[in-house]
Parts: sequence; structure tokens; C-alpha cells
Amino acid sequence: MARTLYGRKRVLVTGGAGFLGSHLIDRLLERGDEVLCVDNLFTGDKRNLDHLHDEPRFEFLRHDICFPLYVEVDEIYNLACPASPVHYQHDPVQTTKTSVLGAINMLGLAKRLNAKIFQASTSEVYGDPLIHPQTEGYWGNVNPVGIRSCYDEGKRCAETLFFDYHRQHDLKIKVVRIFNTYGPRMHPADGRVVSNFIMQALEGKPITIYGDGSQSRSFCYYEDLVDGFLRLMDNTPNNFTGPVNIGNPNEFTIKQLADLVLEITGSKSELINEPLPSDDPTQRCPDISVAKRELDWEPTVQLREGLEKTIEYFRNI
Ligand code: NAD
Ligand code: UDP
Ligand code: UDP
Repeated sequence: MARTLYGRKRVLVTGGAGFLGSHLIDRLLERGDEVLCVDNLFTGDKRNLDHLHDEPRFEFLRHDICFPLYVEVDEIYNLACPASPVHYQHDPVQTTKTSVLGAINMLGLAKRLNAKIFQASTSEVYGDPLIHPQTEGYWGNVNPVGIRSCYDEGKRCAETLFFDYHRQHDLKIKVVRIFNTYGPRMHPADGRVVSNFIMQALEGKPITIYGDGSQSRSFCYYEDLVDGFLRLMDNTPNNFTGPVNIGNPNEFTIKQLADLVLEITGSKSELINEPLPSDDPTQRCPDISVAKRELDWEPTVQLREGLEKTIEYFRNI
């Protein structure tokens, strides 16, 4: 038991310098926990943690989770992994290593400490889904040898490892499948669609729609997502492990997203079409009945409101 002298919980967040990890850390600190952030700063940015410089309950460790880590904590949130297709395809071997070796190391750490461990999995485990919306019972339609496979198969293998450590070693696990999430602290050059469109609109550059823009995604605001994380991690009475979809079930085409960004920013940027990357899923939308039932969770921030806040953030950086 790694509780501090003062009885506070010690929480490890891997990938804590990234978009979602840094927001999660804020919520954990707000409620009084001690937080150790482990990040190799591949896609993360220490500026996401600048406001915590004088926070004595916060500590940062630069470390790659592909290597073993010996620390003492009570709970682990494993978020380390590049999430943008541009970033995870930049060094695909490292992406698979982070998902698989990183998971083994963090699970080994959790096993030694008997600590509860949370895995940030993804809607990409469903690949280019053939059923719609996606339920947790769907096994997916994933290309094992394509350009997205390093991420999709890495995250699928990580889920397998989490469930095997649970069955074999009785480890307490929590697995969330995150659907497209956006908000402040996304890196402006992150390459994902929301940050790309907002930056292009604000800079008066052409909005790059890959393909004809008819493919769909369902966009969740980060506050709702982090709320779902905490509900899952803290939901101990019925020992619910997941996997559970967390995302906003309101679905939009990429063309609709572009039009909304133009409307809110008032930008005169033109829309241009670029080639659709291979294996780009044509549709994606979470069925969130499990999250509603098990966690009493559903999103509260809709796309227009979330985009307004995100655009405001990007205007000011
Ligand atoms: P992000 O790129 O902003 O954050 C990922 C963080 O992990 C970065 O700080 C990066 O430096 C760090 N990292 C990468 N490899 C590492 C390694 N080997 N060792 C230590 N740190 C490492 O992305 P994000 O959107 O905050 O995503 C966080 C997690 O959520 C990821 O696991 C991602 O797969 C998952 N996820 C996110 C979304 C989304 O829409 N944002 C959707 C599905 C899943
Ligand atoms: N590990 C770690 N920190 C720990 C304990 C384990 O990083 O506190 C790593 C170590 O590299 C180990 C891996 O987690 O190889 C898996 O641990 P486990 O106990 O499951 O298996 P082992 O390989 O030790 O038999
Ligand atoms: N996309 C786009 N223009 C961009 C970036 C992305 O049209 O500048 C499309 C991309 O092809 C995909 C969708 O937007 O169909 C979501 O892409 P993102 O990279 O955000 O995440 P994904 O859901 O594909 O992992």
C-alpha cells in the first residue's frame, strides 16, 4: 500500500502530458489525490502541465513505458500512446511497442502493487465497423497488415493482456473504449480532424477534407469523457471491468463538421478535398447503453458548445 503519510491516494497517469492525460490529472488533483505523471513527451507537451509547477502533490517523470518502471502507487491510469493517425503512423513499430510492451510493464507494476489499473482503449478496436452503432459485444473488422494496424492491433492486444491479467492474476482492471474526443490542449499540429479544421479556419487556410467528407464520426467533449473515466475507475461495488464505450452518440459527417467550424469561426476558408487515407473507417458511433446502465453516464456537452470552447482556446494560443 503506497498511501502517503497523510492517507492520500497516489495515482500514476501515463501519457499525462498529452491532451486527455493532462485534463485527467487536473481532476485527480482537484479531488485531493497525489499524482505521478509519466510521459516520454513524444506527442505530449510539458506546457499542458505548466500550471502545476507549484503543486506539491504533483510530480513529473520523463520515461518511456516500453521500459520497466518501479514506483509505488495505489492506482494506475494507462493513457500513454500517440492517438492521432499522423503521429501513430510516424513510427508504427514504436506504437505497437507502446501499446503492448507498455501494457505488460504497467500490468506487471499493477500486479506487484495489487493496484487497480485503467486502460485507455479505443473505438479503433472495431476497425471499419460493419455494425452500427458499435456495441461492446462487436468484435470488429480490423485489417491486421494496414497502416492503422500498429494502433488498432496494439490496442486490441493490450485489451487481451488486461483481461488475461484479470483472469490469471485476479488483477482489478478497468477498460474504456474511447470514441473521438476533442477540446482545449489538443496540439494545434496534432493532425486530427477537429484541431486541423479549427487551425485551418482560424488561419484562413483551406479546410482539408479527406475523401468526399461523407465518412462519419461522433465527437465527445473532453470534460464528459474524463467524467466517464472517473466513474468507471471508482465504480467498485459491482466490480465492473468494462470494456465500455465512452463517447458522444451524436454522429456527424466530416463535411458537416467542416461547415460547423466555418460557421462558428466566421472563417472564409475554402473546402478542398484530399485523398482518403487507406483503411479510414467510413462510420463510427458508440452505443452507450452499457455506460448508461453501469456508470449512470452520458455526455452533456454537444458539438456546437464544445467546438465554441475549443475554438476560443485555439484563438488564444
Ligand atoms: P496525446 O497524443 O495528446 O497523448 C498521448 C501521450 O502519451 C503523450 O503525452 C505522449 O507523449 C505519451 N506517450 C506516447 N508514447 C509513450 C511512451 N512510450 N511512454 C510514455 N509516454 C508516451 O493523445 P490523447 O488524445 O490524449 O490520447 C490519450 C490516450 O487516449 C491514448 O492512449 C489514446 O490511444 C486514447 N484515445 C484517445 C482518443 C481521442 O479521441 N483523444 C480516442 C481513442 C483513444
Ligand atoms: N514490471 C515493472 N514494474 C514492476 C513490476 C514489473 O515495470 O513493478 C514489468 C517487468 O518488466 C515485467 C513486466 O512488468 O517483465 C511483467 O511483469 P509480470 O510480473 O507480469 O511478469 P514477469 O515478466 O516479471 O514474470
Ligand atoms: N480528416 C479529414 N481532414 C483532416 C483530418 C482528418 O477529413 O484534416 C478525416 C479523416 O480522414 C477521418 C476523420 O476525419 O475520416 C477523423 O480523423 P481523425 O484523424 O481525427 O481520427 P480517426 O477517427 O480517423 O482516428
